[in-house]
Amino acid sequence: MLTVEKLHSAYGRIEVLHGIDLQVKSGEIVTVVGANGAGKTTLLKCLSGTQPVTSGQIDFRGEVITAVPAFKRLERGLAQSPEGRQIFTNLSVEENLRLGAFLFSDDRVDADMQDAFTMFPILKEKRNLMAGGLSGGQQQMLAIARALMGRPHCLLLDEPSMGLAPLLVAQIFEVVESLKARDVTVLLVEQNAFGALKIADRGYVMETGQVTMSGPASELIADPRIREAYLGI
Ligand code: ATP
Repeated sequence: MLTVEKLHSAYGRIEVLHGIDLQVKSGEIVTVVGANGAGKTTLLKCLSGTQPVTSGQIDFRGEVITAVPAFKRLERGLAQSPEGRQIFTNLSVEENLRLGAFLFSDDRVDADMQDAFTMFPILKEKRNLMAGGLSGGQQQMLAIARALMGRPHCLLLDEPSMGLAPLLVAQIFEVVESLKARDVTVLLVEQNAFGALKIADRGYVMETGQVTMSGPASELIADPRIREAYLGI
């Protein structure tokens, strides 16, 4: 589905990604874990096309997309739910969802919205309310639902559990896990390594702009180095 080869990226003259190799196969949940500042968000921005790549290659569904602009990546089925949710706080829940479907004008949009409401009943309850009035967890659900309205083949999720109370964190991870049944491939970036590795098929560990470990999530979660550095065990 998604292959990243020797990816480099910089802010001005400061390089922050130093040759990332990564693969996401169709139907997988893959997580990238790592400390604050490791470069996880920059990686996702390179994949969605909102951060320039210095060198390297990104392939998506059999095509090279390294130079394809962000909105065209969305058209090809690569969507991002960004860090900090970035919902439109002064628009209603329903309007936010409709904006997620801006690429489409067909009858399926209403059906997709009903689908989103089945997945997130609280959004149905609050469909006419301003999105800014939702709780943090509800806003995160809206951000994911809005991204799904774009009918992505692959969803890039940046720190969906950030800033949420433990109960809501568990709920968000359940939602992410359920995307598998909907044929949505997921690349999940998280600082909550334990929660992310528990639902992922495979994982990558990033440190200062490089991948330092990768493998099946079950192996990473059992690895003493990961347990000490990221799981506090
Ligand atoms: P976080 O969990 O805090 O988002 P991260 O692993 O996602 O961390 P990035 O946000 O990708 O890390 O940051 C990687 C490096 O790039 C950090 O050193 C950060 O300070 C730097 N950086 C990020 N955004 C910018 C920017 N807009 N301009 C300059 N440097 C930046």
